Amino acid sequence: MDRMTLGTAAGPTASPSGPTGQDAGLDGQSAAVALPPRSVRVEQAEAAAGRLRTAAVEAVAVTWVDNAGITRVKAVPLGGLVHAAQWGVGAAPCFDAILADDGFATGPGVGGPIGDLRLYPDLTRVVPLAAQPGWAWTPGDRYTQDGSPHPGCQRLFARRMEAAAAERGLTLKAGIEVEWVVALAGGPQDEPQYPTHGPAYGMHRLTDLSDYLREVLRALGEQGLTVLQIHPEYSPGQFEVSVAPEGPVCAADTSVLVRHTVRAVSARHGLRVSFAPVVEPDTVGNGGHLHLSLWRDGRNLGHGGSGPHGLTAEAEGFLAGVLDALPELLVLGCSSPAGYLRLVPSHWAGAYQCWGLENREAALRLVTGSTGERAAAANAEVKCFDASANPYLAVGAVLAAGLAGLDQHRSLPPEFTGDPAAAEPGTVPRLPAGPAQALAAYERSTVLREALGGPLYEAVLAVRRAEDEQYAAATPEQLVAATRWRY
Ligand code: GLU
Ligand code: MG
Repeated sequence: MDRMTLGTAAGPTASPSGPTGQDAGLDGQSAAVALPPRSVRVEQAEAAAGRLRTAAVEAVAVTWVDNAGITRVKAVPLGGLVHAAQWGVGAAPCFDAILADDGFATGPGVGGPIGDLRLYPDLTRVVPLAAQPGWAWTPGDRYTQDGSPHPGCQRLFARRMEAAAAERGLTLKAGIEVEWVVALAGGPQDEPQYPTHGPAYGMHRLTDLSDYLREVLRALGEQGLTVLQIHPEYSPGQFEVSVAPEGPVCAADTSVLVRHTVRAVSARHGLRVSFAPVVEPDTVGNGGHLHLSLWRDGRNLGHGGSGPHGLTAEAEGFLAGVLDALPELLVLGCSSPAGYLRLVPSHWAGAYQCWGLENREAALRLVTGSTGERAAAANAEVKCFDASANPYLAVGAVLAAGLAGLDQHRSLPPEFTGDPAAAEPGTVPRLPAGPAQALAAYERSTVLREALGGPLYEAVLAVRRAEDEQYAAATPEQLVAATRWRY
């Protein structure tokens, strides 16, 4: 089996490549991932530490998200923040090969006990955590010991893709919807027991859990996030919150922050949460829908053009690239094999590889908003993604596929206007029904291989293959039980 435990060696680790970040004359993408000079980092950390001290913060959690979609953390006491900003915090490179159940994949250049990386807190994002008094959070980027960008760092990948868009004069606004199931706290393998039994989308559920939901809203607001809406979802104990769109890397950071805030508030109410793709077999699952709009010179390119529903040629090319690449994008957008239990027809999960205006069964839903707000609100929603995704990989890969479509001046195929689930079988292509099919598409994708770079591309492949193999013989019930409380 392509899997091992913590102590086992797995061959050489990836050798660092790329510029040190200190070189003069870096191109846009290299500049975007270069470690800022030490003096800048120290100044920033001293200022941040002062603000955090005033807010009674005692420790800072620095997170990164692994290739299996799990948020991992190193924390430092506040007094150590300046040191962490100067030198980074040690982080073993084997975490590029860790699986959702804490086993490890093996593969060329991944895993093993040798080597060290430095996790640098990105203090432009640091914020006190409202539901974890005394704690602050900030995302981290991983560099080698000599200060070169770690080629396996998922957040640096997203930053490179954001810079690739900027090189074309484009910016992206993105937002990741967060759905979760809340249950009474219990043992690790417990079947969920729900704190509310109200109907789907029902006021009954909001009433039952009104203190809890208000505290989720308050905590998110205190952390500087603009909540758009919060509501009960379809499945038992399921809720959703959406926040205002922002740049893609920020949106990925925000999805980490939102989930851990929901988790922290839940714990304070004696509740536990699951963001897993499926919490009970044969129910509607938790999505991690990615909304995006493309902008140039302050103008939304999804509006006022001559393409379908007002898309400009650039927005159409971008979306055509995304639509075409959806099978391989699932490798980045749905980490867990359990995601394919969610990605089925008539679950509003976007199981079909088609697009359509306000079509909730299409993997790519075009959203225009109310007539008067279209210039600002028009966006597309990638519905097939779930919250087992590493959000940095998801936004970076969508950018890579979209920019390829834009560069090639691609057009969208005809819109699918009906319910694809009710269409004649075979009329509308289904997205991969399992991880093996998605992986086969990923292995054919030169766009993703080039964008991710060899080490990251291979590490993702090793992790997905190991999890695919691990659960190949599992029943849906076993797969759901194994993943339910991991995400
Ligand atoms: N929970 C559904 C999913 O699995 C999505 C429902 C909705 O459209 O918000 O993606
Ligand atoms: Mg929803």
